Amino acid sequence: MPAIDDVIKNRFFVFICGCIAAIAALQFGLSSMAGFVSSFSPLLFPTLTIFLLVFHLFIACFMAMRYWCDRRRLYLVALAFAFAGSSCLMVGTMSSFPAWFELYQFTDNNYNDAMIFFMFRHLMMAVLIIAATVLYTLRHQPLSRTIHLIVIGTVAIFTTCMIILAWCYSSHYILFGIDLVDNETRQFMMLWDQVINIILIMVWLVAFITMMVITRLRNLFWASGAFLCLTYLVSLSILLFSGQVEGLGWYQARIFETTATLLIIFVLLCDVFSLYRDSNSRYQQSYQNAIRDALTHLYNRSYFYDALKQALKTASDVSPVSVIVSDLDRFKRINDTYGHLQGDKVLQFVATLLTESVRPQDIAARIGGEEFVLLLTHTASADAHQVAERIRVKLNGYDRATSNNQLPEKISISMGVYTATSAQVTEEECVERADKAMYQAKETGRNRVVVWQ
Ligand code: GH3
Ligand code: MG
Ligand code: MG
Repeated sequence: MPAIDDVIKNRFFVFICGCIAAIAALQFGLSSMAGFVSSFSPLLFPTLTIFLLVFHLFIACFMAMRYWCDRRRLYLVALAFAFAGSSCLMVGTMSSFPAWFELYQFTDNNYNDAMIFFMFRHLMMAVLIIAATVLYTLRHQPLSRTIHLIVIGTVAIFTTCMIILAWCYSSHYILFGIDLVDNETRQFMMLWDQVINIILIMVWLVAFITMMVITRLRNLFWASGAFLCLTYLVSLSILLFSGQVEGLGWYQARIFETTATLLIIFVLLCDVFSLYRDSNSRYQQSYQNAIRDALTHLYNRSYFYDALKQALKTASDVSPVSVIVSDLDRFKRINDTYGHLQGDKVLQFVATLLTESVRPQDIAARIGGEEFVLLLTHTASADAHQVAERIRVKLNGYDRATSNNQLPEKISISMGVYTATSAQVTEEECVERADKAMYQAKETGRNRVVVWQ
């Protein structure tokens, strides 16, 4: 256990150092930029908002699709609604900056509305992120369809209520109202400075601590989520001291949030690529399992026949296709004398020898118990005979010592060669003829190569 504790402590330490470094770098960059320009363009804030809106929408779609693909991840629903709701509320923020739609309307910014949407957005996101973190603990539980529907329904209703409330409290609806910013002086009101901002900081603190404790930052996804919570905490703390909108803190909040959002997108993309890599390697693995023999790792019978069928399509006098069928001599005796395990070792040894004795483009396959076959493309009968003879001599040259105990004694092999020089011949005929030649080798004394005539 102490080792695991060390790892966790180490992970938290790295996370905190990383966050401090990232926030300090952003802070430095922004302060340096602020030193170069006398005042920011009035379009900068709505432009940053548009970027953030699109990014949040992207994350929401991504989380929803991920949940769709893997229903155990119910917590992603809460996150999807958090980001989707955030995008909707940013549409409200955009409506507070008419200059974005109408040229020269720079003075009509409704900062109070922007702040109301900001407040509801933060409250909604923090609550949904806490809910997601709690739901994360249920990821291994088998949850019924009803529970999924209840969670989705609750989260959807909560998000909708927050959006409607934000709209009602903004100037778009006259019955309700709340004063967070004085639109004339751009100063924050007491309600924001002394109540709302502090409540939001508390809620984000709860979200941050819950995430750290429950997820223990076990992967990059949760580390990026915790970084987002931390940037919200820092932004709200900066706003607490900045006193007015359109100050540096106003832009800092947006830039911190955009950076944290980009980090989440980056982590999600990494996740997709690692999923793709895993599934591709699993596919490759199962494909290899499907075309190879488990004991010798040579190609199996069906792969060999497919490859032969393909090769025969272009067989001609100038491009002959040769097939060598081989069968170990008196192999049954090896099994009976030394046992099946030793027999298997012999098969593996022969398989390696066959693979190493042909070109990379040739195919060595196991088509029966101790029957092997070689498919040599662009190889004339005389060359195939030479290849078979070389293998036979080489195998017969090994004994127990030189084979590193793989062979219990000297063994021999009988081989039959057939070469197709036209596309008329079928793959079954090819193998049958090579097989006949091999049986001729058996009948004429074994340990020899016979070419089909
Ligand atoms: P011949 O020279 O006529 O080919 O004699 P043989 O003893 O090799 O005869 P046969 O081809 O009939 O024997 C094949 C033996 O191969 C029978 C079976 O016990 C053994 N065998 C088949 N598959 C495996 C396997 O996967 N592992 C092992 N250890 N033995 C196998
Ligand atoms: Mg045999
Ligand atoms: Mg046999």
